Amino acid sequence: MGFHVRIYSERLVLRHQWRISRQVDAFKDNVFIEIERDGIVGLGEAAHNPRYDESLDSTRRFLDAATPVLERCHPRHFQHVIDEIDMLAPGQGAAKACVEMALLDWITKQAGWPLARYLGVDEQRMLQTSFSIGLDEPEIIRKKVREAQDFPILKIKLGTEHDDEIIDAVRSETDKILRVDANEGWKDRELALERIRWLSGLNVEFVEQPMPADRHDDMKWLHQRAPLPLFADEAVKNSRDIPTLVGGYDGINIKIDKSGGLLEALRMISLARTCPMRVMIGCMVASSLSITAAAHLVPLADYADLDGNLLLQNDPFDGIKVEKGWLRLPKRIGLGVEKKSRH
Ligand code: MG
Repeated sequence: MGFHVRIYSERLVLRHQWRISRQVDAFKDNVFIEIERDGIVGLGEAAHNPRYDESLDSTRRFLDAATPVLERCHPRHFQHVIDEIDMLAPGQGAAKACVEMALLDWITKQAGWPLARYLGVDEQRMLQTSFSIGLDEPEIIRKKVREAQDFPILKIKLGTEHDDEIIDAVRSETDKILRVDANEGWKDRELALERIRWLSGLNVEFVEQPMPADRHDDMKWLHQRAPLPLFADEAVKNSRDIPTLVGGYDGINIKIDKSGGLLEALRMISLARTCPMRVMIGCMVASSLSITAAAHLVPLADYADLDGNLLLQNDPFDGIKVEKGWLRLPKRIGLGVEKKSRH
């Protein structure tokens, strides 16, 4: 009656160690789902993040709990299935996004439609993605900047004691537009303001999550004084968070692994427009499967930061393409993602 479900995890190996202000990783174990019915397979990926109380275990547990629902459901009752799975546990956005992704992939493949048509987005209206440079020693940062020569916009991770050395290393290689992500690393508002003033003279476009996510009053103080736009990332998971950010931020970084999927991400975009706030589509470290899903939101956004797959040595999927930073959706039905044959 319902779907045949297969859940597995796969180790995604990073090209460079991935370091941000709170953690460092050499690989990422993401969880994948395949749901099959009538000879059609829907694919999904969960890129869990410990910052949001998620782990490999919690993700697998959630997907195991969702399996009986998928095994007995009819795809026609898609929204009901999504709602039922959402109520299995609070949080676990990555696992929820994974299930929704697979269902959307299956439904649109069955209909013979590309996902962009189902979502009503114009796949011609794509943006250029930024390319992220994680924290590292200056000589490695210079190497990373050289490796990213095809990308016109870099996203630089800061929030350390030696932010000046990082920016010096980047600027010794390039004068490209930079976006800065402090990942909550500046704990003091005076320090945050000082750093943002310094960055404003260095061709930096905006600053993401300068202070800890719960510091709403400090962010309002900072927002009144900062000479650069400020974007929320860790401070915004879903549409319920958006009203709390007004007055503290100019924009939000939407990630499907935080929101629990594309449909909630669409609600976030609508709500952000009424605030008004600018919209960036971001990602976790993930394969081309998850990144292609998220890229379907780019036609509705102002900025794209979808490079999680580009940081990998062993991407198991083929989907989104990037040329000189321009994101190109695959011209296929469903998500348009295929598993590479060597896997
Ligand atoms: Mg961020």
